[in-house]
Amino acid sequence: MCGIVGYIGNKEALPILIDGLKRLEYRGYDSAGFSVLNGNGIMTEKAVGKVVELENKVNGKNIKGSVGIAHTRWATHGKPSERNAHPHCDCEKNIFLVHNGIIENYKELKADLEKLGHKFSSETDTEVLAHLIEEYAKQVPWEEAVWRTLAHVQGTYGIATIKADDPERIIVARNGSPLVLGILEDGFIIASDIAPIVRHTDRVIYLEDGEMAEITKEKYEVINFKRKKVAKEISKIDWTLEEAEKKGYDHFMMKEIMEQPEAVENSIRGRLVVGEGIAKLGGLRDVAERTRHLKRIVIVSCGTSYYAGLVGKYMFEEYAGIRTDVEYASEFRYRKPILDEETAVLAISQSGETADTLAAIREAKNKGALTLGIVNVVGSTIARETDAGVYNHAGPEIGVASTKAFTSQLSILALFTLFLGRQRDMSYVMGKRIAEELEKIPELIKTILKQSGEIKKIAKKYSSFSNLFFLGRKYNFPIAMEGALKLKEISYAHAEGYPFGEMKHGPIALIDKNFPVVAIATKDSVYEKTMSGIQEVKARSGKVIALATKGDREIQKMVDDAVFVPKTLEMLTPLLSVVPLQLFAYYFAVNKSLDVDKPRNLAKSVTVE
Ligand code: GLU
Repeated sequence: MCGIVGYIGNKEALPILIDGLKRLEYRGYDSAGFSVLNGNGIMTEKAVGKVVELENKVNGKNIKGSVGIAHTRWATHGKPSERNAHPHCDCEKNIFLVHNGIIENYKELKADLEKLGHKFSSETDTEVLAHLIEEYAKQVPWEEAVWRTLAHVQGTYGIATIKADDPERIIVARNGSPLVLGILEDGFIIASDIAPIVRHTDRVIYLEDGEMAEITKEKYEVINFKRKKVAKEISKIDWTLEEAEKKGYDHFMMKEIMEQPEAVENSIRGRLVVGEGIAKLGGLRDVAERTRHLKRIVIVSCGTSYYAGLVGKYMFEEYAGIRTDVEYASEFRYRKPILDEETAVLAISQSGETADTLAAIREAKNKGALTLGIVNVVGSTIARETDAGVYNHAGPEIGVASTKAFTSQLSILALFTLFLGRQRDMSYVMGKRIAEELEKIPELIKTILKQSGEIKKIAKKYSSFSNLFFLGRKYNFPIAMEGALKLKEISYAHAEGYPFGEMKHGPIALIDKNFPVVAIATKDSVYEKTMSGIQEVKARSGKVIALATKGDREIQKMVDDAVFVPKTLEMLTPLLSVVPLQLFAYYFAVNKSLDVDKPRNLAKSVTVE
């Protein structure tokens, strides 16, 4: 959440900052702002709304300077307004700072600072940082003042700060919110993730929690909380600029839906040995002996990744015979989870920075569990902190509503199933069968994408409804939940995802002609039960849009509208059935003229609790 960009070098800072903010906008977009050191002070501009508002505001203004910081906000404390937009500053308008995260003890700090005479001009938690640095900087050098400030705050932060009377440096620090430093030919760019960096350089360093960096035009120095210099490894970004752009689609979300065949293919490439019916997961090699003896897996994740986890549970229990629980990371970390050395905690997170999931992993590690990850962003915190894991290789996902990361998570869960299953009782024949079917998935997804025109028409037909049910059973119950979540996220329609069998225990009371049902009714082991459920809805004048298996003529006669997906192994049906639901949500929202890439109140990569 929230995007930070900073630049120091020989070029004009403003265009780099604005471009960077645009690339980070998916992390938050309720206001934006920047501060640039212009030789005789600091120039700051802010605007409410998206980055383009800020850009329009400064268009034509002469803002020169080659050092600056910028921010696109996802408000946690204080409503979205110009006053609350970052950068925030001290009383003297000398120290300017942008922040990603939450300062939990800001109220106490603010009260103390007010007693000392500090005047606050925003309602944010962030502003205390600028004033506290100011206070300490009266006695000690700036970098020491930043340290002392950070030692006093509780909570999470990624910060970047500049100082008018010390104009040759940017100081940045992180604890819980990501920061990446891009190394340029003639300067440095700092950002919350690599999206703003990739067009300038492929050489980066990832800051760790508890690290601060002082950056000048010529060099950087990273220091840890023990005040020791840290020699950082320079990593190479493997995403191209082209991959991070829209490629002619109206929205990132559509581009990413369409990229799913490739994303799934990349997730399984080199990892599936079809002839032997096994999965080769290099990331698990070092822990293979431990995974062989696991008695239990706890999957921790949030949002869409949580639903991927639910599918994973069904897969692991049915094919690998391992008891699996799926937990919302935000709940797990505050409970008293029972874990031991025969348990693995598997985190699923697209960004690898999800604050709740990260905290859950840290808790699991403390308790001696093996920690594993399924993460898309290489080098992200969860990827680095787990004992072992598997990268998605799905490419950058920018659309706030997750699509290709989800299908690639499902593919990796299928690979995990093969890996764990073949360490146990799974036969060669079964392993081979799963591997063969998984290999075909990218081609099958392509056939669904070709039907996007029909799905568009159906979405249009239903887009005036404000309540919808998404129902499914067994492997497709999590997909019903995911279909409902997609619709809620981007169209703001009220969508309920339910296991179909639960309808008669309460929710069916809601059904009438104004409450349509999207029923996932693929030909699988629960098909007959699902068909009975559809009859029950029809008997109550409910409208039904069915998602069925290609060639199922019977269902077509029963329902109002139908979309067909090809046949595959039951455990892999979620990889197919979710695709029409993503398209349905997309067109439903577009039909309501909503900006699907920037849904209200949301942000990608939830790095705050
Ligand atoms: N807590 C800060 C605020 O509300 C920063 C939020 C963010 O990460 O965007 O302004």
